[in-house]
Amino acid sequence: MLKVNLHAHTWRCNHATGTEREYVEAAVKAGYEQFGFSDHAPYPFPKGYYSSFRMRIDQTEDYVNTLLALREEFGDRIDLKIGYEAEYYPAFFKDFLRLITSYPVDYLILGQHAIENEVTGKFSGHPSDDPAGLCRYVDEVCEGLDTGVFTYLAHPDIFFFTGPDRIYKKEYTRLIEHAMKLDIPLEINLLGLMEGRSYPDERFFKICGEMGAPVCIGCDAHHLENVCRPEVIQKAEDMVSRLKLKLVERPVIRPVIPV
Ligand SMILES: [Zn+2]
Ligand SMILES: [Zn+2]
Repeated sequence: MLKVNLHAHTWRCNHATGTEREYVEAAVKAGYEQFGFSDHAPYPFPKGYYSSFRMRIDQTEDYVNTLLALREEFGDRIDLKIGYEAEYYPAFFKDFLRLITSYPVDYLILGQHAIENEVTGKFSGHPSDDPAGLCRYVDEVCEGLDTGVFTYLAHPDIFFFTGPDRIYKKEYTRLIEHAMKLDIPLEINLLGLMEGRSYPDERFFKICGEMGAPVCIGCDAHHLENVCRPEVIQKAEDMVSRLKLKLVERPVIRPVIPV
């Protein structure tokens, strides 16, 4: 059973269900000691662009206030953390940090859902055999991690590279090396495992095992029933022992400081 999970969403991102309170109740029931909310972050995009899979900027205050009130109420039973899953979009990142740090925030996880950004770039999860795309994904993730504000890297292997294994290995090794240098855990994503997505990829975590990179487990819960799925957690734990992964059960929370 997991004691810590820092990856959970809420109804606010438009593709998840469940209120913050329902998640907290489910997390307490499942025996979590620490539970972090990391809903898809609000992002200050140019006027006219609407991002459908994240909370709106004007929902931020209520998200934070709701979590602060729950922390007050449930504080003796569970350690609640206020966070976001966010992309590193260089063009908007400074403004993004300014926005979220104007409210209390404990941590960020990096989920690089698009290359460049979703306005002018493209999504990273689609199958692609373009080595330059993978290279760019790795470059941007490394640059994002260098900002120092991310506690861990969610679904690090989201770029679905269908080209030669040799290139897969070369590029992803670069990412893993960089995360190791910064001591940032790489997430085994339980949602991907549960749905049979392209991630977590055995090839990626095999390299992690060989190199001794830190890994962690994240539920990526978008529905209440996924707060605790023992059979999926078991699969992740099997992966950890099979590939001799260095599991970080309690990732060190890095403070979010504007750059
Ligand atoms: Zn999501
Ligand atoms: Zn997520």
